[in-house]
Amino acid sequence: MPGDTLIITSSGDSLQLPDSLFHHQLAAFPAQNRLDNGVLFFLVMAVLVCIVGIPFLINRLREKYKQKQAYKTAQANFAQYDQWLAAYNGYYKSLPAAMRQRFLERVAWFIATKTFNCVNLPADDKMPLLISAASVQISFGLDKYLLDFFDTIYIMQHNYNYGFYDRPFEGHVNSNGIYLSWDNFLKGYEDYTDADNVGIHEMAHALAYVNFMAGANNAQDDAFIKRFYDFSAVARPIFSDMQQGKINLLNGYAATNYNEFWAVGVETFFEKSLRMKIAMPELYAAMCNLLNQDPLLPEKLLTIPEVLY
Ligand SMILES: [Zn+2]
Repeated sequence: MPGDTLIITSSGDSLQLPDSLFHHQLAAFPAQNRLDNGVLFFLVMAVLVCIVGIPFLINRLREKYKQKQAYKTAQANFAQYDQWLAAYNGYYKSLPAAMRQRFLERVAWFIATKTFNCVNLPADDKMPLLISAASVQISFGLDKYLLDFFDTIYIMQHNYNYGFYDRPFEGHVNSNGIYLSWDNFLKGYEDYTDADNVGIHEMAHALAYVNFMAGANNAQDDAFIKRFYDFSAVARPIFSDMQQGKINLLNGYAATNYNEFWAVGVETFFEKSLRMKIAMPELYAAMCNLLNQDPLLPEKLLTIPEVLY
């Protein structure tokens, strides 16, 4: 009779039960249904984690192993490194023995985390060493010193052209890496008193890049970023004066923009330390506080960073 017969259609399996019946059904078979669904979900997630996670973990472990080997290789060369750095790097040369050891440990790790890509020039063992040392001297007082946003450092022989710029480059930094010309790099350290050092200049850009331009990344140093605001409170007015034409100890190129002011300021801080302390005492003190070091002190460091190597 109409009304008494439950009509089963061909799509009976998907027939929607009225809400009340649905709840009865859940009440009758709840545990088994939920357990099955829960186990299935867990299995799917476990498979996904295995597919994505295990290769990631293997790669990560392989990378760590390679870095450890590279670090050991660098460590085995400390005597040679000490000799080369004392000959080429005025900052290193002035360090007492205990600080030299600390410096070399950091350089060894820095080298281990980077690929040094020589573009149309033969590789030289001095390249990774001296280039890494330029970065380590700036970050010697910081906890985060690896700039590990950057995997690759590109080395060219001479000045080079880049993008649409007319003038040739001695070095630059962008999201793909740190770029340096070897001739200019060596020239920069040959005279360690003229505040013209492309190695220090580009590594200063790289340090600013990982902290302020690259977005969230491993190399960001919250303590450094916080202190940078104190530095800028002193530095910004000096930069503004330079943009108005005021001349001071810094190379006029510092007036180009605040990023260049920073890089030129770091070059001057290391290569004309005493002159900067006398001529621009507030900026010198702000830089000491920011980098946690004073190049005029034999031991350099103001406080010992928590991260030793
Ligand atoms: Zn620059």
